Amino acid sequence: MRPLEYVRPQSAEDAVAAVTDNPRARFLGGGTNLVDHLKLGVTSPEVLVDVSRLPMDQVEEYAEEGGGLRIGANVRNSDLAAHPSVRSRLPVLARALLAGASGQIRHQATTGGNLLQRTRCVYFQDVTTPCNKRDPGSGCSAIDGYGRYNAILGASEACVATHPSDLAVALVALDATVVVLGADGERRVPFQDLHRLPGHHPERDTTLAHGELITAIDVPWSEVARCSTYTKVRDRASYAFALVSVAAALQLDDGVVRDVRVAWGGVAHKPWRAERAEAALAGRPLTDENVRAAVDQELEAAQTNDETAYKPAMVRNATAWTLLALAEGRTR
Ligand SMILES: Cc1cc2nc3c(=O)[nH]c(=O)nc-3n(C[C@H](O)[C@H](O)[C@H](O)COP(=O)(O)OP(=O)(O)OC[C@H]3O[C@@H](n4cnc5c(N)ncnc54)[C@H](O)[C@@H]3O)c2cc1C
Ligand code: SF4
Repeated sequence: MRPLEYVRPQSAEDAVAAVTDNPRARFLGGGTNLVDHLKLGVTSPEVLVDVSRLPMDQVEEYAEEGGGLRIGANVRNSDLAAHPSVRSRLPVLARALLAGASGQIRHQATTGGNLLQRTRCVYFQDVTTPCNKRDPGSGCSAIDGYGRYNAILGASEACVATHPSDLAVALVALDATVVVLGADGERRVPFQDLHRLPGHHPERDTTLAHGELITAIDVPWSEVARCSTYTKVRDRASYAFALVSVAAALQLDDGVVRDVRVAWGGVAHKPWRAERAEAALAGRPLTDENVRAAVDQELEAAQTNDETAYKPAMVRNATAWTLLALAEGRTR
C-alpha cells in the first residue's frame, strides 16, 4: 500500500468539504471493499476521509408522505437485517442482507458502503489486465474472457460487468430514496437513478458527484412490502456473489395480482427493476405460466453469449419460484 493520509471529520459537512476539495480523497465506511482495493492497487487515493463514526447510525420511522423507515448510512448490515421494523414490514431487505457476505463482514459493512461497493468482475480487480472501469480507455477483458457473471441487460461495448450489492436489489424494488449531502446542500435521489448503465463511461458506477455523501436511505411503507422476499442463486451456500437474484413483493386479490414488485441482481450494471414484467402481471392471475410470460417480456432485450446463455432460464425460474412462494406463504 502507498502512504496515505487518514482524517476523521467531526461532521458530515466537514467530510463533504474534505472530499470535494481533493479529487484524490475518498470516503471510508466500514472499509470492507475499499481497503481490499487499496491492497490490490485498484485505487490509490491520497486521503481517506473516515465517515463511519459520524452520527448517521440510526434506523428511525418518519411520518411525511405516508411514512416509512429512514436508514442511516452508517447502520451496519447485520444491525439492519435484525431491526424489528425491517423484519416485520420490509422482509425483503432483511433477506437480501443475510444473503450477502459473511457474518463478520456484515457486522463491519455499512449501508452507504454496501450500495457503493464496486463490481466483482475479476479483471477489474486484476491490475495486470485491461479494464475500462478501472483504467478508462484501456479496453474490456471480460467481453472475450471469463464471463459467467457478465450482464445480459443494458451492457455496452465498453463494459459488461454486473452490480454486486444484494441490498441494492431489494431497495430498488421498494422505491427507496437516497438522501445525499453535497457541497451545495442536501438532495434526494430516487433509488432507481442512483446506479447507472455503463455506456461509454463504465468508470462511473453512479450518478453521484465526487464528494457527495450518502447520509440515509428512505424506504416508504407499503402494503406490498409486507409480503416480500429475496432469492439468491449462487455457486455455494457460504458467501458468494449472485449469479442471479430476485427481490419480489406481492399483493393478491383472490389470486389476481393487485400490486407486484420485481427486481433482479446479477443481470446488469445496476440493480434491475423489471417494470415491464410488473406491468404484464398487474391485474392478471398469478400463475406460473403468467409469471414466465411476463419475465420473457422483460428479457426481450437480453443479450447472451456462450458464457451467459444460462442466465435467462435462471432468471425465469427464480422469479416464478419466488412469486409463487410468496403467493403460497412459503417465504422460508
Ligand atoms: C468476502 C466478501 C464477500 C462479500 N459478499 C457479498 C455479497 O454476497 N453480497 C453483497 O452485497 N456484498 C458482499 N460483499 C461486499 C460487502 O457487502 C461490501 O464490502 C460492504 O457492504 C461495503 O461496505 P463498507 O461500509 O465496508 O464500504 P467501504 O469499503 O468503506 O466503501 C465502499 C465504497 O463506498 C464509499 N462510501 C462508503 N460510505 C459512503 C457514504 N456514506 N457516502 C458515499 N460514499 C461512501 C467508499 O468511498 C467506497 O467507494 C462481500 C465482501 C467480501 C469481502
Ligand atoms: S466488464 Fe467492465 S469491469 Fe470487467 S473488464 Fe470489462 S470494463 Fe472492466
